[in-house]
Amino acid sequence: MSDSFTNKPKAATGPRLDFIRTIVSDDVKTEKYGGTVVTRFPPEPNGYLHIGHAKSIYLNFGIASEYGGRCHLRFDDTNPTKEEVEYVQSIQKDVHWLGFRWGEHLYYASDYFEELYQRAAELIIAGKAYVDSLSAEQIREYRGTLKEPGKNSPYRERSVEENLDLFKKMRRGDFEDGAHVLRAKIDMASGNINMRDPTLFRIRRLPSHHRTGDTWPIYPMYDYAHALSDAIEGVTHSLCTLEFEDHRPLYNWSVDHTKMDCHPQQIEFARLNLSYTVLSKRKLLRLVEEGHVTGWDDPRMPTISALRRRGYTPESIRTFCERIGLAKRDSLVDVAQLEHAVREDLNLRSPRTMAVLKPLKVILTNYPIDQVEELDAINNPEDKSAGTRKVPFSRVLYIERDDFRENPPKKFFRLSLGREVRLRYAYLITCQEIVKDKQGNVVELHCTYDPASRGGTPPDGRKVRGTIHWVSATHALDAEIRLYDRLFTTEDPNFVEGSKDFMSHLNPDSLTILERCKVEPSLKAATEGSRYQFERQGYFCVDADSLNDKLVFNRTVSLRDSWTKIENRMNTESGSATTSSRNKGKTLNQ
Ligand code: ATP
Ligand code: MG
Repeated sequence: MSDSFTNKPKAATGPRLDFIRTIVSDDVKTEKYGGTVVTRFPPEPNGYLHIGHAKSIYLNFGIASEYGGRCHLRFDDTNPTKEEVEYVQSIQKDVHWLGFRWGEHLYYASDYFEELYQRAAELIIAGKAYVDSLSAEQIREYRGTLKEPGKNSPYRERSVEENLDLFKKMRRGDFEDGAHVLRAKIDMASGNINMRDPTLFRIRRLPSHHRTGDTWPIYPMYDYAHALSDAIEGVTHSLCTLEFEDHRPLYNWSVDHTKMDCHPQQIEFARLNLSYTVLSKRKLLRLVEEGHVTGWDDPRMPTISALRRRGYTPESIRTFCERIGLAKRDSLVDVAQLEHAVREDLNLRSPRTMAVLKPLKVILTNYPIDQVEELDAINNPEDKSAGTRKVPFSRVLYIERDDFRENPPKKFFRLSLGREVRLRYAYLITCQEIVKDKQGNVVELHCTYDPASRGGTPPDGRKVRGTIHWVSATHALDAEIRLYDRLFTTEDPNFVEGSKDFMSHLNPDSLTILERCKVEPSLKAATEGSRYQFERQGYFCVDADSLNDKLVFNRTVSLRDSWTKIENRMNTESGSATTSSRNKGKTLNQ
């Protein structure tokens, strides 16, 4: 049964299969696993999912659905110290939101603890595992280095009986943490350090586990638990990130020597690294705990919950994952690519509205004092079915402060003294007078409007180049708008010199809050999560902090598409055909 997300079946027939799909295709053809494909997404519930996880989710669920197989969601919950129910719940919510379904295939490695224990006991009986009583520090010393082989532990030759007895007592809770570990008996001289008698079980009496409570004072180590969990579930292709390449021999050893029926194939791919951010739960947790962000879902974070709150769509994240593809070498993906994907998607689907972020009052001195007109505005030029709406127009308006200049530079086609500009969907206006306060700040503009230019076209056909947005002062709603910038100031904050750490690259200006914004009255009914294009500004989304009398918006992304520029430049440099014309979202940006 396939209950995973089906968006683009491209099984077997696609012209260019990536290296993983090539392997899977061949295995299906040769009926390696009876022609079935079973994958899994195996998060450890010790943090919220980030955009790197989305790559893995997209890959695992994608492959399963393309080949008519299934993908499991399995919590690799083998470490009670860092795992919490909150994370288990957020992970399910995020995978679901991204559009992927696991059906009844929701599993926990902790459900296999008994089987993992029994199979470890069988390894002891087969002479392939032993209880070691060296301290953690001694174990490290005995392990050797990359250049030097390790040494056998003095406990390595314990009898099967003694090992079994100790292992049972470990399980019963007779010993303190660190008193003993169970180790695989492989080869202390192996060139691969992971194979130098790796630990399989360790004692961890506290804290209690989020699912098994105090039942287990011992916990299996990741490599052993992961390999066996895959095999227990009948996983065929176990896709993981490159850092596990050196663990593959141990994965295979664990499955082989415990005599599992199914032998999944581990295949590694490059993890996603994204510019100007960090993708490591440990580092993200530090940002949360030290209060640099308001939480895991702070819209500056690269987590799925933060992207959702910021206004990203699941479709745009899937498109991004599709486009970055798969590689066997680590690289840094430009965050502009992610922004490009969401901009493209929101361009097609978001209703347009007018919002003034930094208001400047405009009084139309020749407009009747109590008159209000309802003007027609197009909701979405990309979607005719979205229709039109009425926008109130009156004598006192707000325009964007940046749309006026006292001393306009050469190509400034917006408003300045004596100049005429078009108000979107409304009239042409000319600035007649600038009103300043005592400090010399411009506080108000007095303008006249041309009553014959309703809709923006003057009957005499005179040319007016600039079009600016506006809201009617008495009708506009108050709003707070939060603008986000990159969380870090350097492309790769993981790269640090000397004793500094990634925190030294935090961008102190990653958040700007504009509290006195004015938005169109049609936004009155805007509910949390609704997305809009604010004309000429960007895409915005209603935040969870929004109140009835004070809307709060997050800027998802600005309209300017720096990625298109980068792409164009790259294409020009390489002289290759450009794909960017289709990527240039059409926006009103005059
Ligand atoms: P982190 O380093 O953020 O703690 P992790 O690898 O420890 O990540 P897991 O919960 O173990 O986090 O990850 C679940 C799955 O997601 C694993 O298969 C892992 O390989 C994959 N994954 C994690 N980070 C990335 C990434 N940046 N790019 C692609 N896949 C990733
Ligand atoms: Mg991990």
